[in-house]
Amino acid sequence: MKKIVIAIDGYSACGKSTTAREVASILGYRYVDSGAMYRAVTLYFLDHHIALTNPKEISRALSQIHLSFHINKHGLNELFMNGINVEKSIRKMRISENVSPVSVLKEVRSAMVEQQRKFGKDKGIVMDGRDIGTVVFPNAELKLFLTADIQVRAFRRQQELLERDKLVDLNTIMANLTARDRIDSQRKESPLVKAADAIEINTTHITLDEQVDETVRLALWKMITKKG
Ligand code: C5P
Repeated sequence: MKKIVIAIDGYSACGKSTTAREVASILGYRYVDSGAMYRAVTLYFLDHHIALTNPKEISRALSQIHLSFHINKHGLNELFMNGINVEKSIRKMRISENVSPVSVLKEVRSAMVEQQRKFGKDKGIVMDGRDIGTVVFPNAELKLFLTADIQVRAFRRQQELLERDKLVDLNTIMANLTARDRIDSQRKESPLVKAADAIEINTTHITLDEQVDETVRLALWKMITKKG
């Protein structure tokens, strides 16, 4: 069967990453969490006190950042920055609270998009994010756009944080998701919008298994009917 590119975009905490990871594992595809890359850049910028108003400093910092994904012994993809596993650090609220203003920056976006396209050059990839179907892979064979009610999203994110022993109250999470959605949707550079040819899935009332099954079904259909 022909390999395809699957782009999964949508609002924060709609289940994009979990769906993308599961689908990639079922299809034997590579999974790339593009949000993790923006989170890692944010971690670097915070730790190195990079001024977001100084394009030269930003470009210099970006040239010092090397990102790579590695599969751990449980089969999960983990992000490494300059050889260090940053998977835990990038999921903290400190990063969630600063990532959207970093992701607005033109220099950051072009560096990330270049690397994301390299990851996808041989197809057989599932990538989730905000601009994957619109900017990174506008020719992706399958594009999904996930949405869900804010309360459901906040609750799911709270459970994920709890699994990492972090108790964060629902209002704090809800405020963060809303703020990020606003900045991500309103920014000038590649804002979060549904691609014209994306299939919208509202995940409020469906389970993760249903999300995954539907995505795999759509992907298989695209693979079977793909020409060339
Ligand atoms: O997917 P996740 O919620 O981890 O993404 C964190 C942030 O990274 C988003 O809120 C957004 O600001 C940024 N992002 C982006 N473009 C992407 C993926 C993530 O701007 N393709």
